[in-house]
Parts: sequence; structure tokens; C-alpha cells
Amino acid sequence: MIRVQGLEFRYQRSDFVLRVAELEIADHERVAIVGPSGSGKTTLLNLFAGISTPDRGTVQTAAERVSSMPDSARRRFRVQQVGLVFQEFELLDYLSVFDNILLPYFLSSALRLDDAVRTRARSLATDVEIADKLARNVAKLSQGERQRVALCRALLPRPRLVLADEPTGNLDPSNKHRVVDLLLENAQAAGATLVAVTHDAEVAERFDRVLDMAALQ
Ligand code: ADP
Ligand code: MG
Repeated sequence: MIRVQGLEFRYQRSDFVLRVAELEIADHERVAIVGPSGSGKTTLLNLFAGISTPDRGTVQTAAERVSSMPDSARRRFRVQQVGLVFQEFELLDYLSVFDNILLPYFLSSALRLDDAVRTRARSLATDVEIADKLARNVAKLSQGERQRVALCRALLPRPRLVLADEPTGNLDPSNKHRVVDLLLENAQAAGATLVAVTHDAEVAERFDRVLDMAALQ
């Protein structure tokens, strides 16, 4: 569940202002966010995740008021409850594909890495057809392959909230649909809330609801 009330956010030294009077995304809902480039889609996901905090208003995510948590609690919340697929992937170039997928387990002592987790990591990689590249350094992957690694990493801990920023932006049509299948199916199986930014009408129409940035202000 995500609930935003009276939100206002500005970057320092920038004219951009994001305002969201009221927004609610229910538990288990799967929502696509659409809107032109520069309209604040990534900014909004960062606010949902607690990466940024609003200047005014509140953001409540998965029963936690992330906008008023101290930094350390927000970081812990993010690792444990939020699966993020960043627009720029944020993979660690010196690690293999497999270790990048397992990364949340290296970063948080609250997540326990065991054989079941490793097996699930391999299975997710198989679902998006990168299982043959698990030992490869991520620096030696195509953009589309990197995007799929980022997706596996986000889904592995079965987060309650999955936030995906243009997760199909670099994919060919068949991989695009495979990634959307994986996102929708995993969210449903895990009872997670899913919010995905997309420019692709074919992708957006597969979600329960489409939220247009223009309608939020
Ligand atoms: P979208 O994801 O919809 O393309 P963003 O949320 O990335 O849009 O950006 C919204 C606006 O905020 C843009 O005008 C962008 O230039 C600006 N912006 C994004 N990040 C920063 C930042 N770190 N500092 C200043 N301005 C930023
Ligand atoms: Mg963006």
C-alpha cells in the first residue's frame, strides 16, 4: 500500500516542482505510471522508496511513514521491503551477474543467504534467459541483459513493494513481454504491490491501473 498526501518536492537549484495532492495505491495493486520525460516519474518512485523525502506532505509505504523516518531506518526499510529496478540499473560492474542478483543479501544482515535463495536466483535468471551468463562480469553485458539482472535482483527477496523504472526500456519485443510477465506474476505470487514506469502503451495496458503524471498535479 502506498498513500501520498499533500506532497511537494523540489530539487535544490532547480525549478522543477512535483506536487501530488492525493494518491493511493492499494495492497497487491499493479500500477503503471505514464507521462512525458521530465514529468517527475523517477522522482516519484524515489519518494515512494524513501530515497528522497518530500518538502511538504507525507508518503506512507507498506504501513510505514517513510517520509518521516530517520535515514538509517529508511535504508533498512528499503533493503527489506522494497525491490527497486533503477532506470540506470545501478549494478556493480566488478561483480558477476550472480553476485549482482544476490547483492541485497550481501548488504543486509536481515536477509539470510542460503541454498534456497541461490536456487531461486538461478530460477529467476532462467525466466529472463540470462542463466547462461551467471558467471560473467556485468560490465560485459548488453543493456538489455543488464536490465534483466536488475530485475532479478529486485525480485529475489520477494519484496512487498516492487518499484520498476522503465524496466522494459532497453528490451526487444520478446524480452519485453517476458519481463512484464515476470513482474506481474512475481508481484501476484508474492502478494506485492507493483508500480512500474513505462512509455510503452502495450506494457501499460497489462497493468490493473494506469496512472498519468498529468492527472496527479
Ligand atoms: P522522469 O523520470 O519523468 O523523466 P525525473 O523525475 O527524472 O523525470 O525528473 C523530473 C525533473 O527533475 C526533470 O526536470 C529533471 O531534470 C529534474 N531532476 C531530476 N533529478 C534531479 C536532481 N538530482 N537535481 C536537480 N534536478 C533534477
Ligand atoms: Mg525517469
